[in-house]
Amino acid sequence: MKAQATALLDDLRAAGRVPDGETIVGALCGRLAHEAREGLVPVLNGSGIVLHTNLGRAPLAPEALAAMNAIAGGYSNLEYDLEAGARGSRYARVSTLLRTVSGAEDALVVNNCAAAVLLILDTYARGREVIVARNQLIEIGGGFRLPDVLARSGATLVEVGATNKVYLRDVERALTAQTALLLRSHPSNYRIEGFTADIDPAELAALGKRVGVPTVEDLGTGALVDLAAYGLPHERTVREAVADGIDLVAFSGDKLLGGPQAGIIVGRAAPIARLRANPLLRALRVDKATLAALGATLQLSLRDEDRVRIPFYAMIGTPLETLRSRALALATKLGALGIDVRVDPAIGYVGGGSLPLAELPSIALAVRPRAGDANALAARYRAGTPPLIARSEGDRVAVDLRTIPPERDGELFDLLALT
Ligand SMILES: *Cc1c(COP(=O)(O)O)cnc(C)c1O
Repeated sequence: MKAQATALLDDLRAAGRVPDGETIVGALCGRLAHEAREGLVPVLNGSGIVLHTNLGRAPLAPEALAAMNAIAGGYSNLEYDLEAGARGSRYARVSTLLRTVSGAEDALVVNNCAAAVLLILDTYARGREVIVARNQLIEIGGGFRLPDVLARSGATLVEVGATNKVYLRDVERALTAQTALLLRSHPSNYRIEGFTADIDPAELAALGKRVGVPTVEDLGTGALVDLAAYGLPHERTVREAVADGIDLVAFSGDKLLGGPQAGIIVGRAAPIARLRANPLLRALRVDKATLAALGATLQLSLRDEDRVRIPFYAMIGTPLETLRSRALALATKLGALGIDVRVDPAIGYVGGGSLPLAELPSIALAVRPRAGDANALAARYRAGTPPLIARSEGDRVAVDLRTIPPERDGELFDLLALT
């Protein structure tokens, strides 16, 4: 506080201005509030993007938080076999759950899906060739570009086919004695449409088996259930990839699974054992809090009636009518304060690089600023406590209610009341 006050006075002196006391106190409060924000703070996500990578992707279920709390606050049997009274496996418990949800023989968990892909490439492909169809050379957010990742892993990328059409025979022709992997990546954040042909993953897996080259799928999104049940387009599930015979399937813990940041690899027992023996795993391993949260989230994924406890599924499953009645209640109260607010239809997205074209019909409060423009109002909301992230649209700011938990409506009202 003293340091901030001194810095402010220095700045004012340097600027050669002497404002009144009230202005100085106001400026000091602003600086202190800014300083208090330097750490992580919770925000209200009014963007309508359910898995917003910049906002921390998937919020965790209460059960996952409770599990983290119980495990991270003390000692646990993380790597301890209680029966034998000796060292045990860090991954044993979560692997059992992952086998159940995926149908795979074995499973492994690392820090994120990018790390999972790195571990697989490092284990199999250093100094060797990896065949990838040209329509799958993806870049995901944060500069993770498949050709670059392959290069960093010391693997040689062998691209086959054309951008719009790739056939199994293209892969067959590219096989050499140096082929280490057949890599498939799930185009989770783009679509190629029109005059196209793609390789059936089951046929790719069969080819791999025939020639003795492991197949890998960078699935990314990691849907455990068919999203068609939520009115969304079908997204390839982990179980489907495993059932197609892909040897190793990698996906994120904090996308469609709705759990903590993690990279999950499921697949056949022998290749998973080989990954487990790679010393790099030690550098990519997850901590006890992540494993606790992941285990609890997977447990909730087992049954339809429990899955709704996972915030991602609660949010995508909220009926439009529920959103509309929340919006109407808030709008009535805000209107009584003389605020110009409309209840508008809105379009949200799953986000996190998943289902980029799938729109989530939603409801937004569209607030018109009393003074200034919509951008300035959106900035004022971001400066609130908690900060509210909302979009300016024309002369209004739209706050999508699908991504704001209903129990936060009181806080949302207090923020919007300051319009
Ligand atoms: C999101 C994604 C990744 C990266 O996942 P992280 O868990 O963020 O590292 C990798 N591949 C695909 C296909 C993805 O969609």
